[in-house]
Amino acid sequence: MAILYIVATPIGNLKDISFRALETLRGVDLILCEDTRVTKKLLDYYKINVPTLSCHQHSELKKVEYIIQLLKRGKNLALVSDAGTPGISDPGNKLINIIAARPGLPINIVPIPGPCAITAAASVSGFPTDRFLFLGFPPVKNKRKKFFKEAASSKYTVIFYESPHRIIKTLKEIGFFAREREIAVCRELTKKFETIYRGSVEKVIQDIEKDEIRGEFVVILGEK
Ligand code: SAM
Repeated sequence: MAILYIVATPIGNLKDISFRALETLRGVDLILCEDTRVTKKLLDYYKINVPTLSCHQHSELKKVEYIIQLLKRGKNLALVSDAGTPGISDPGNKLINIIAARPGLPINIVPIPGPCAITAAASVSGFPTDRFLFLGFPPVKNKRKKFFKEAASSKYTVIFYESPHRIIKTLKEIGFFAREREIAVCRELTKKFETIYRGSVEKVIQDIEKDEIRGEFVVILGEK
C-alpha cells in the first residue's frame, strides 16, 4: 500500500527537523510542496535530491488526480508546507481531505510530527495550555469585530496568527475587547530576530512599535 507522509518541517531554524522527517524525505519518490522554491532551501541544506512538485491551495483537480494516480501506482509521497506542520492553517488539508474521502484507495496517510508555530508559541507563553482555542488568522476585512469579540470572550487561552502588516492594527482591536488580558506575542520564533513580547495589550503594542515591525507573529491571550 502506498504512503502519503505528512511531514512537519522547520518554522525558521533549519535544524529543527526530526531524524524521521529527514529519513522520510530522503526515501520518498516525490515531495509535494506548497512552494517548491521554499522547500528547495531545506532540501539543499540536507543534500536531499528528490523530485518536487508544487501542490497548493489553487492546484487544479487535474493535478490532484495525477497525485492520486501516482499513489495508486505504489509511489510513496511526502507532503510539506512552507513552514511547520502541513494542514495547520495552510493549504495541506485540502489534498488530505480529497484522498481520505475517496473510498477504497490503497493509500495510508501517515503523520511525521514536528514544528508548528502554535505549539512553539504556546510552549513559551507560560499561559495554561491544557485547553486552548486556536483561531487561525483574523479575517482581513469583514467579520473582524466578531473574530476579536469571540477571542476576548473565551475563558481559555486563545492563540492566533498574524502578519507583520496587520499586527499593530489587530492588537489595537483586540485591546478594545480585552484590555485587562495578559498577552504574549511571539515574533520570528526560532529565527535570528526571535522576540517574545509579554504584558498588557497596551504595553506589548508600545514594545513592538519600538522595534522594526517585520517577520511572522503568533498572538496569545492568557486565560480570562
Ligand atoms: N503550518 C504552519 C505551522 O504549522 O505553524 C502555519 C502556516 S501559516 C500559513 C503561517 C503563519 O504561522 C505565519 O503568518 C505566522 O503567523 C505563523 N508562523 C509561522 N512561522 C512562524 C515563526 N517562525 N514565528 C512566528 N510565527 C510563525
